[in-house]
Amino acid sequence: SAKIINGKQIAETLLLEIKQELVSLQTIHQRPPTLAVILLGEDPASAIYVRNKRRACEQVGIRSLSYNLPDTTTQAELLALIAQLNQDDTVDGILVQSPLPEQIEEAAVIAQIDASKDVDGFHPYNIGRLAVREPTLRSCTPFGVIHLLRHCNIELKGLDAVVVGVSNHVGRPMVLELLLAGCTVTACHRHTKDLAANIARADLVVAAAGKAGLIKGEWIKLGAIVVDIGINRMADGGLCGDVDYAVASTRAGWITPVPGGVGPMTVATLMRNTLQAFRQHVGA
Ligand code: NAD
Repeated sequence: SAKIINGKQIAETLLLEIKQELVSLQTIHQRPPTLAVILLGEDPASAIYVRNKRRACEQVGIRSLSYNLPDTTTQAELLALIAQLNQDDTVDGILVQSPLPEQIEEAAVIAQIDASKDVDGFHPYNIGRLAVREPTLRSCTPFGVIHLLRHCNIELKGLDAVVVGVSNHVGRPMVLELLLAGCTVTACHRHTKDLAANIARADLVVAAAGKAGLIKGEWIKLGAIVVDIGINRMADGGLCGDVDYAVASTRAGWITPVPGGVGPMTVATLMRNTLQAFRQHVGA
């Protein structure tokens, strides 16, 4: 049965490294790295994500600024707040938690963030840098997946990788990350004709569709690496991924659990990106 990729533990190790690095940096630089976290409305899942991010900041020594705005906030108001944070030399990272209320256009919000403060790695400039193989700030979840695989000493060069889901925030940058790492990449999505056949020949499956049970355990090639980014709420309140874990884990060589796999790495990577932005801003 599969070796389990313990994302929680690997993330803790990364957070500890960041914390230590920050201690040595702060003796040279006067101000702490600072992340501005903007949350609109009261979506319970978003509230949990934001809480986890603020906690991680505390854990590693990053100052976090909280902007909890009502879900009636206008786009102009949000853009004005971002403009103000862009101008603020003591702010290194700006994060706007999605999903956004319907009156606000997400692309306009992302474009407004100064690319050097885009610690989510969502800005078209940063996605473009990844696309031309000169990555700067990299999307947290895909970059976190790469870190997980590298941590397990998995050689990515030449692997046949299949990514399921091609959203701007997750699937697409995941495809670019795997290309950069030397995989042969197939991108599957809701119009893909035969998902099962694509999965069956994959050395590496990365699931990011947000559909529980989408990927059947029987489809997994023996010994394949399975990374499940999906987070789905089950009827009993628990969480599961997109992959049928019970069967897949009897066939795979490596597998990430949900929860405790990719999720914690996303938060740790956000901290890493904030540190990187800080270094760039203070010239360290
Ligand atoms: P999204 O809804 O924006 O995109 C879903 C993608 O999946 C689309 O490209 C769509 O074409 C594809 N898809 C949907 N149904 C499909 C099907 N039947 N067959 C093949 N492809 C299908 O979602 P997202 O924002 O990219 O998030 C995807 C999942 O990842 C969600 O469950 C989300 O909660 C989770 N997520 C997890 C983390 C983490 O840290 N673990 C971070 C971000 C998102």
